[in-house]
Amino acid sequence: MSAAAEDALKRLVVDVSDYPKPGVVFKDITPLLADHDGFTAVVQALAAAGRDAAGNVVIDKVVGMEARGFMFAAPVALALGAGFVPVRKAGKLPRDTFSESYALEYGDATIEIHKDGVAPGERVLVVDDVLATGGTVAATRTLIERCGGVVHSVAVLLELTFLPGREAVADVPLLALEQV
Ligand code: AMP
Repeated sequence: MSAAAEDALKRLVVDVSDYPKPGVVFKDITPLLADHDGFTAVVQALAAAGRDAAGNVVIDKVVGMEARGFMFAAPVALALGAGFVPVRKAGKLPRDTFSESYALEYGDATIEIHKDGVAPGERVLVVDDVLATGGTVAATRTLIERCGGVVHSVAVLLELTFLPGREAVADVPLLALEQV
């Protein structure tokens, strides 16, 4: 990762204590989004997960999850010359979808992908802002596999290492730009 990306993550991702509820330290990425040079450096760093050691692009699609995943996955897709595919909360995609539910700390979440969002055999890079419990990434992987796609790798800005997120996708390469 470039020094510029490292610096941007340190300066422009802001910890907000007790948001959205007591005890949670929320990682606010909006200052990073607002900084052109920092945002560019971080997008380039995430895009490395879609290239091989020689720099060749080895993925066909980039999938991002609503909502903050969109903000990084779409520019990563453009940087790699790949298509972007949204995974959305239930009921937001207008055509035929696959749907996956998973447990949150309180209650359940359901996310969806268009059935033709990823074609059989396509290699996919999954991009999100924060890897916490890994539930969102694991459910996204299931959706991609139900389309017939293959998750090539997962890339996140931040991995919360006190949570077992990495174990949820243990057999897939994971690029975490920063571990906290
Ligand atoms: P999880 O499914 O538990 O890995 O949670 C990941 C999703 O929740 C990501 O899409 C993040 O945007 C969001 N998230 C979880 N924890 C945090 C946090 N501390 N700060 C910001 N976003 C978070």
